[in-house]
Amino acid sequence: MFLNIFHFLIVLIDNKLGFLSGTGRIRHTFYSPALFRKMTKRTRFAPSPTGYLHVGGARTALFSWLHARKHGGAFILRIEDTDLERSTAESVNAILEGMTWLGLEYDEGPLYQTKRFDRYNEVIDQLMEQGLAYRCDCSKDRLDALREHAMAHKEKPRYDSHCRNRNIDPDTPHVIRFRNPDDGVVVVDDMVRGRVTYNNSELDDLIIRRTDGSPTYNLTVVVDDSDMNISDVIRGDDHLNNTPRQINILQALNKEIPRYAHLPMILGDDGTRLSKRHGAVSVMQYMEQGFLPEALLNYLVRLGWSHGDQEIFSQEELIQLFDIANVNKSASSFNTEKLLWLNQHYIKSADPYHLAHLLSPHLGRLAIDPTEGPDIVEVVKAQQERANTLVEMAEISEFIYRDFDEFDENAAKKHLRPVARQALEEMKKSLQALTSWDVEHLHDCVEQVSTSLDLKMGKVAQPLRVAVVGRAASPGIDVTLYLVGKEACLRRIDKALAYIEKREQQAKA
Ligand code: GLU
Repeated sequence: MFLNIFHFLIVLIDNKLGFLSGTGRIRHTFYSPALFRKMTKRTRFAPSPTGYLHVGGARTALFSWLHARKHGGAFILRIEDTDLERSTAESVNAILEGMTWLGLEYDEGPLYQTKRFDRYNEVIDQLMEQGLAYRCDCSKDRLDALREHAMAHKEKPRYDSHCRNRNIDPDTPHVIRFRNPDDGVVVVDDMVRGRVTYNNSELDDLIIRRTDGSPTYNLTVVVDDSDMNISDVIRGDDHLNNTPRQINILQALNKEIPRYAHLPMILGDDGTRLSKRHGAVSVMQYMEQGFLPEALLNYLVRLGWSHGDQEIFSQEELIQLFDIANVNKSASSFNTEKLLWLNQHYIKSADPYHLAHLLSPHLGRLAIDPTEGPDIVEVVKAQQERANTLVEMAEISEFIYRDFDEFDENAAKKHLRPVARQALEEMKKSLQALTSWDVEHLHDCVEQVSTSLDLKMGKVAQPLRVAVVGRAASPGIDVTLYLVGKEACLRRIDKALAYIEKREQQAKA
């Protein structure tokens, strides 16, 4: 609690000072980052806005968010948009939209790397001044030849530090390389992978500024993680091999090294890395397909993390139970069936008001205006047990809002037969006379007609259901009639009677 208040005050004051304005002033903090880091966990999600928010990214964001929440820390959103050709505003929006939908609220940000170029250049200049970086004008041909030579000798391609001491003229087109230590090892004590050791002799002098003057990924990440006081870096394991390079740069800058956690990848059901080929991988596509954010979140957390056999977790439970140290080292497989199962669970147990809010846009997609029908909360209550997704719920609710074109063939064949005529005619009369159109009176009505005709209730209810819904499945007949409304029920019963009549004529002919 105390830590939270402390953190809040610092953020508030720093906000006033423009700390978070992304103008490159982040470094001018008046408190000790080291002290601050000891006091609170700060995690970040750092997507490159070159596409939508995909499932893998969302899981990374979720684990970072949970880790921060669990420790009462802060979760920061940083947009890594330095690749000007591939980064788009639409993608930034898609990422923000996905995070909002999943409820992954960030405490700071979004911070944009493109607003921090001055700061990156400042750090690069500092490295140059200290002799920790140098200009390189090696041609593409030379670098290609180096690579080919290494390949031919079955060695890992690496730059041979050719320009280290060549003192290239600043006016010659050049890149800037970080002078990587030649010897020793870099130890990454990864919270998921355990200890991973790299020999410096395997790493080469990395480009930190391109010929066009733009800083490269490893440099910007290091500067940002340090300036933003990130204590715990949680990201996909495709970045594991960047980590020793980043640690070396941090060390050169005399900055603290954050803790790292590299998350295993997510595989599709065929064992290859999850990609578009496996169907929906964008978070918002799941929304469009009628998944609840709670279900997707619950599903994502189980991709690589578990707590005994427990499958269902509330957000509070997750914050309490999640431990980054318990994340699996091995890849996990995406299983759509399980996601559907979770979705069904969350639909069944959701508050109908909440669900109604989520169902509305899906009805809208079917060109249905939910205000032109019964109370949508009643629709949800009637369908909650019957749908795996909100798309399905909207589809099976269409009959409530508009007349269907055709009867389902099998249902009509079975239930709209001449024997049903009398039941339908009696029901029509009875419904016409009904003054209180509510579930209780409608139930009595069906019961009374069945009794008067000496039929089991199903013998009346099924033809009636097919007449009103167009098919043989719907909520209880009383609720169904109630939701469809008097006028439409009577109109549809007439249609069913006409169908029976036609069928009878055809049989005679
Ligand atoms: N921007 C990187 C990506 O989208 C992530 C960088 C990081 O987490 O260090 O893959």
